[in-house]
Amino acid sequence: MRSLFAVVLCVASFAALSPAADPPAASRPALAVHNDFEGGSAKVLSIDQDAGVVRVQPGGDPKLGWPCWWSFKLTGIDRARTLTIVIDASGLKDHAGKPFDPSWALPARAAWSRDGRTWRQTADGKAGKGSMTYTVEVEAGEAHFAWAEPFTGTTAAEFIRQVAARCKDAQPFVLCRTPGGRDVPAVRFGQPAPGKLGVWVQARQHAWECGSSHVAAGLVHWLAGDDERAAALRRRTCITVVPVMDVDNVAVGAGGKNQPPHDHNRDWSDKPLYASVAAAQKEILSLIRQGGLEVCLDLHNPGKNDREPFFFLPPREQCSDANWADYQRFLAGLRQEMVGPLTYKGRTRESGPKYDPKMWRFMGASWMRQATDGHTVAMTLETPWSLSECSTDNLRRVGRELGLAIELYLRDRRCAAQPAWEKDTMQILFIGNSYTYVNDLPRMLSTLAAAGPRKLRIQTDRQVEGGQSLMGHWNKGQAVEKIRKGGWDFVVLQDQSLTPAMRPQLTKEYAPKLDAEIRKVGATTVFYMTWARKKDPPMIDKLSRTYTEVARELGAAVAPVGLAWKAAIEQRADLELFAADGSHPSPAGTYLAACVFYATLTGEDPTKLPPGAVKAVPAETARFLQTIARDTVTAQAAAPSGLDSPPAPQPRK
Ligand SMILES: [Zn+2]
Repeated sequence: MRSLFAVVLCVASFAALSPAADPPAASRPALAVHNDFEGGSAKVLSIDQDAGVVRVQPGGDPKLGWPCWWSFKLTGIDRARTLTIVIDASGLKDHAGKPFDPSWALPARAAWSRDGRTWRQTADGKAGKGSMTYTVEVEAGEAHFAWAEPFTGTTAAEFIRQVAARCKDAQPFVLCRTPGGRDVPAVRFGQPAPGKLGVWVQARQHAWECGSSHVAAGLVHWLAGDDERAAALRRRTCITVVPVMDVDNVAVGAGGKNQPPHDHNRDWSDKPLYASVAAAQKEILSLIRQGGLEVCLDLHNPGKNDREPFFFLPPREQCSDANWADYQRFLAGLRQEMVGPLTYKGRTRESGPKYDPKMWRFMGASWMRQATDGHTVAMTLETPWSLSECSTDNLRRVGRELGLAIELYLRDRRCAAQPAWEKDTMQILFIGNSYTYVNDLPRMLSTLAAAGPRKLRIQTDRQVEGGQSLMGHWNKGQAVEKIRKGGWDFVVLQDQSLTPAMRPQLTKEYAPKLDAEIRKVGATTVFYMTWARKKDPPMIDKLSRTYTEVARELGAAVAPVGLAWKAAIEQRADLELFAADGSHPSPAGTYLAACVFYATLTGEDPTKLPPGAVKAVPAETARFLQTIARDTVTAQAAAPSGLDSPPAPQPRK
């Protein structure tokens, strides 16, 4: 792993830090400790030049939070000799002058580096009373040692620059400038927009918790990479990551935690003290307005005895049933993806009033929940730091696995901020051909919706032409003109009836072009999955696959009409869904399509529709088709992720 901060040597400080000691043998260089660089923190207790033993105390100012972080450079190392580094935290005091638990400063292994860029771990240290002794064969004249591989604001900025250079979806930005005059670097994948799922990840509200920045970096590194699932997530979501929130305390080597009057993670009020909290709040509210926020994660490091990653969740009673189910689904995905060496085994703890009766409301994850009105999954991830396994690589791996779990969770999810299916009046534009206009599917849908229990008003417009394809609609331009008029809740895309089966690449080429226009006006794309020709029933497999794949790529919905037809024909061979040509629909066929659209777009149960609402379809047939539509749409919503289960809008809760 590379850490990219500049080391500034300062002779004056070197002199000040070097204790009076016996002069070393003339042939040997003198060991000296330096802490005058970004993130540096060390106070020399003693240096035994003859034995090569350096005894150091963490140097952070307790007024700036827990004084447990340490990081220093050692010069004058005799290459031939084993070096002994003793971190002695036994005399530390907190900001109130009370003794500070030394164990926070003592990971099992220290991080060390010859050049400050490539870091590795020492062997396991030997624990003493309030101290830890690490021995290292440095084989170089100088080396860096730290609580963990350092990750400062400068590291974050450089890391994000590198990510943006290799991934065009990554946009670096500066969240804010701190009172210390430093930038808080951040990166965003995708733009916020209606229909785009929002994700917010921040790390290091507590400056000493360096490991959480490595988790964030692992997530970003994976997101920017070639993994298909990362690419899918980038397309569907707008993800913001802030790897270091408390840049100022990180820069001066302070711990941040419990800094008076309160630290960053108790600052999420209406009037935050810290610039990065205020800026994050503003950014998050803007994301919620523009598209919604589905997942919020605050990354931390826990206590020294926590030996596996775990999550802080809100109390059950603060969550709706649906929201709680979302948490459980996300956690199940984490168990599947976070396989270690730092393995998520399902552990959770409760945040909220039981965790901090006075300040729980002002913690990051609580504030994010409140900002989204409880519609988000907001959690704190605690990744261990004290174990031998807590190498930079393994922490980054936690970040990557977190990304995989987010992808899994959001794969079938629609944007909660755009509940068009909860409206009582909907505007729908149909783009298609005779499969749409024969028997007037749009009008039949409106008739059914108006007759249903919610008396929904579905107003439709159409751009239809016999035999037309999505490619043709795109090239002729009128469809795009109609989309751009705006005001649509949904735009239905129906390709020519053979194209998705015979020439799927055309569907995959032109659907995204139309979808991009649809997104621009804040509407949701719904694909109209048509049915197989009467003489070629297996054709449905290809149709279904193409529509499902395209919808998944785009984060759009599918009305699985073709699958409903298949189910109806299998159960009632006597029922004629086809017109005489074996291609177009009979009135019963269109009725089934309308019921599938009704269930898909409104989340309502089509079997609650009065069976006599459409005169051309006998009541008994209507009841049967309603049931088929309900079962098909329900099966699709409940199916595990996979290409056989097209995504659908979130049903009404
Ligand atoms: Zn923390």
